[in-house]
Amino acid sequence: MDPWKDHKKKSSKDSSQTFLEEIYKKSPADLQCDAKSNNYYLVPLDVIHGCKNSTLEEATVEEMENHDHEDETISSEIIDAFQKSSPDEAAEKMKAKWKDYENVTLNIAITGMTGAGKSTFVNAIRGLRNDDEGAAPTDAVECTKYPTVYPHPTLPNVNIWDLPGMGTKQFRAKTYLKDVKWDRYDFFLILSSERFKENDSNLAKAIKEKKKLYYFVRTKIDNDIQSESQKRSYNEEQMLKNIRDDCEKNLTVKAGGKPKVFLISSFHLEKYDFPKLIRTLEDELPDNKLFALIQSLPVHSTEALERKKKYFRKLIWMSAFGSGVLAVTPIPGLSLACDYGILRSFFENVYKSFGLDEKSLELLSARVNKPVETLKAAKESRFKDGVNEEMLVNMLKKPIVVAALTIEQLSSFVIGIGSLTAGGVSIATIYHLLKKGLNEMAEDTKRILTVAELAELV
Ligand code: GDP
Repeated sequence: MDPWKDHKKKSSKDSSQTFLEEIYKKSPADLQCDAKSNNYYLVPLDVIHGCKNSTLEEATVEEMENHDHEDETISSEIIDAFQKSSPDEAAEKMKAKWKDYENVTLNIAITGMTGAGKSTFVNAIRGLRNDDEGAAPTDAVECTKYPTVYPHPTLPNVNIWDLPGMGTKQFRAKTYLKDVKWDRYDFFLILSSERFKENDSNLAKAIKEKKKLYYFVRTKIDNDIQSESQKRSYNEEQMLKNIRDDCEKNLTVKAGGKPKVFLISSFHLEKYDFPKLIRTLEDELPDNKLFALIQSLPVHSTEALERKKKYFRKLIWMSAFGSGVLAVTPIPGLSLACDYGILRSFFENVYKSFGLDEKSLELLSARVNKPVETLKAAKESRFKDGVNEEMLVNMLKKPIVVAALTIEQLSSFVIGIGSLTAGGVSIATIYHLLKKGLNEMAEDTKRILTVAELAELV
């Protein structure tokens, strides 16, 4: 019998409860067996125990039907941890990794000649406009006399450094890197506008010699497009290619290697090569630094939101494993044992990173010229007033339906270990909850982007 398929044929609201009853009658061994066929849905027994008299929300049933398995594979790193150490130790490892993600500091250096657009770029990646409060001062004349740190408006562990232009009185080309304390930065972005300058390739060479990562960012591309588009022979693609080729050629001659060049406009970050720059950093930064970077980027388009969402999805298993195996902090009244702390911190990170917090909404309000209350009113999910304990406990109390696809993989290396049968189910349950919360917050963000008239920029 396939209770899931049977259930789909029924339409009444109460059928969800019946569905649970049907599955509940099955033995755990049968459930594991069903799980192998991929299409089954496994309900954690301990949760049903706690909720036997309540009716499953219809929304949950809908989610079961629409459940997608994208990114569901458990990473080899997690499997490795569980195979090489005891389950407790492996869970501790995941927890430590999550803590590391939360506490890591990222220092990004923005360098280049005066007027290249450094301060404007610093502001743009912090989600600010040049005239916003706390923005780096901009002008066509030299503004930045010393390396100036601009902490992220909502993430204190992300520092963006606006470095003085090379070749100014205080910062001579020869001693530039030493003077700006090159070793404190995780990577450099060399910004340059208009024609390629020798100073830029000198800087690239010097940074490369220090074995630091650098990326060449050709700014003000919107200006190039604007002026070139007047020409009769204008071909945007060809023009962008010419600029890119020219930068690459010049950099290769002086600094060698395969330079990475990105064409951007700080006034339209989601256009041109900025998304490609982020994708490149995704491949080259260590995981924890990448987490800080992705979190810090502004969400001013649906594309930026989707990128963040995708990234957080990858972290769900790690958080679930860190929280689900051990009954570290049992929550009174709940049969599901989990480390509530990780669950909470995961949601808090998503909340901030998606720009749903007060400060981010105030900044957005100034940016798009809409009252902050109007933006706030677009939030409809359970997270609309933030992440709080009561809401999380309620979330954990609801009957959960977990996709069997994940259980199959879990059962092979966690559930198989006798003492962790319940642990395995808890992990899968937490996984589902984290994913559900992530989706709900993404929907709130989409609604805000629509109200802010930013959604259609994609
Ligand atoms: P810095 O000296 O390198 O810090 O350069 P600024 O950020 O002060 O920018 C110099 C000028 O270029 C300012 O007037 C900016 O508004 C302008 N600017 C910077 N980035 C861009 C861009 O991407 N597009 C356009 N059109 N102008 C830009």
